[in-house]
Amino acid sequence: MTTQKDKLICVTCPKGCTLEVDHEGNTVLSVTGGCKRGHEYARQELVDPRRKVASSVRIKGAIHPLLPVYTSAPFPKGLIPKLLIQLRSVEVNAPVTTNQVILQDVFGTGIDILASREMQKISPA
Ligand code: SF4
Repeated sequence: MTTQKDKLICVTCPKGCTLEVDHEGNTVLSVTGGCKRGHEYARQELVDPRRKVASSVRIKGAIHPLLPVYTSAPFPKGLIPKLLIQLRSVEVNAPVTTNQVILQDVFGTGIDILASREMQKISPA
């Protein structure tokens, strides 16, 4: 197998360092640039790229029609389009508390979808 060189921008912190990765397929040979956390990011990015996802779902009986949600851990990048489609079909009822589980163990990843904020139930007029 031939050695490949790739450049990645580390998104672990706001510095956004450029990392140079030498690898053979998914096997990382060396990473230059950035810090130890960045090197971990580069290895993860080659083998199993993940991203934190923030989105929203519909909510009934609350002051707003949409509830902001987020993933409990970085989500497999390849499954994000499927996740966003799934979230479009979700509707919850108010009240909701901050960090309440909205969807559990999405697609068997062990990652939950959590409410980013609380949303009270509006009292009937
Ligand atoms: S390599 Fe280290 S310092 Fe650079 S962006 Fe990544 S975490 Fe931040």
